[in-house]
Amino acid sequence: MKKIVIVGGGAGGLELATKLGNKLGRKNKAHITLVDKNRTHLWKPLLHEVAAGSLDDGIDAVSYRAHATNHHFSFKLGAMKKLNRINKVISLDALFDEDGTMILPESEVEYDILVMALGSVSNDFNTKGVREHCIFLDSPQQAKIFHHRMLNKYLQLGVHETKSVNVAIIGAGATGVELSAELYNSLKQVSSYGFEHINSADLHVSLVEAGDSILPALPKRISASAHKELLKLGVDIRTKTMVVEANEQGLLTQSGELIKADLMVWAAGIKAPDYLKELAGLETNRINQLMVRGTLQTTLDKDIYAIGDCASCPLPGGGFVPPRAQSAHQMASLVGKNIMASLNDKPLTEYKYTDYGSLVSLSDYSTVGSLMGNLMKGSMMIEGRIARIVYISLYRMHQVALHGYIRTGLMTIVERINRVLRPRLKLH
Ligand SMILES: Cc1cc2nc3c(=O)[nH]c(=O)nc-3n(C[C@H](O)[C@H](O)[C@H](O)COP(=O)(O)OP(=O)(O)OC[C@H]3O[C@@H](n4cnc5c(N)ncnc54)[C@H](O)[C@@H]3O)c2cc1C
Repeated sequence: MKKIVIVGGGAGGLELATKLGNKLGRKNKAHITLVDKNRTHLWKPLLHEVAAGSLDDGIDAVSYRAHATNHHFSFKLGAMKKLNRINKVISLDALFDEDGTMILPESEVEYDILVMALGSVSNDFNTKGVREHCIFLDSPQQAKIFHHRMLNKYLQLGVHETKSVNVAIIGAGATGVELSAELYNSLKQVSSYGFEHINSADLHVSLVEAGDSILPALPKRISASAHKELLKLGVDIRTKTMVVEANEQGLLTQSGELIKADLMVWAAGIKAPDYLKELAGLETNRINQLMVRGTLQTTLDKDIYAIGDCASCPLPGGGFVPPRAQSAHQMASLVGKNIMASLNDKPLTEYKYTDYGSLVSLSDYSTVGSLMGNLMKGSMMIEGRIARIVYISLYRMHQVALHGYIRTGLMTIVERINRVLRPRLKLH
């Protein structure tokens, strides 16, 4: 039986493992193994909500082991570190518990077909002090660190001469913009849970962007609309501001200004994990993404596919497929088809990226974005409630791919019940 190994159970990898498990694993046509360095999956676009405390990852996270059992694939916990293309084997790091005791030694997993779906990490462009002083929103663990520090800052307000909480977010892409709005929403909630002395004047969020405008990758109208909403909330938007250093006091800009901050989040660009650069001689680009052909097989090895943020897939008109959840979702779908075709000696299909538009959620305040479709020429701007519904439907599509329609429906009902039963904000 062919061994299919998928490394990374994120937006793309977990959907693919589920699909192949249901189609091939269930009928014993192939053995599918998903490898992830974490025990649970949380859809990455929810991380800013975990950081702000409006989402409890303990409730939304999917256990890989339980999901694998329900969908006929195996799960292996571990971080991939090496690849041997000649022997067709990947190596996983040893596993350690919190106090450094080794749980499992290094191990190996054999494959016939390998899918790399490792996602991306924040790119600090080697800016001085960023690694030491800024938080990256790359994982639920990091988002929770930010959340705890934020709650501690609220506890200190009025004590030790702490008069306000200053947060600086570097990078005004979707993550930075969404987090800024979410922080004001969480402040509103926090004051209703025993922090009555706190009000919006106590939070100061600086959103720092090197480009001319916020949301530089989105159409001007959307960026302008989001800009207006953030100003209303009180966000201090600093465009055309290049950060050259982060230190204990805050951010140092190219013009020599110090933007004071107690907490700093770096959300200015992504790269694929550094170790991909030297992974068994596979071809990579300048941000370590694996170069793929139209079929999503890597350029130098047809038995290795790459999907999602760690793949560099050229677009026919120039440029590359953007690192987004919708790309990971579409790529997972195509690679699923291609793997099944290859097992049946059928020709493989080329990936065609479909841009369904981009939406940015400004928490409870607004949602803005553009939709692309066949019915309209180009894009259409949407805002408010309709935009919010479309934004949420992106996550629902991911849930449907993992759990099917009935379970997703039930989960949606449970979410609504939880909104009544549980606090609106995670307070621990
Ligand atoms: C705060 C935030 C908001 C976002 N909002 C949006 C949005 O609104 N719309 C949108 O389209 N996109 C959004 N994105 C981008 C989107 O989340 C990513 O494009 C998408 O998750 C990429 O999917 P992926 O499967 O490639 O990787 P991921 O979903 O990141 O999954 C990668 C997986 O690989 C695992 N992994 C990594 N390294 C290893 C290793 N060495 N060994 C084993 N496992 C490993 C990780 O644990 C993870 O489970 C957002 C991103 C962030 C951070």
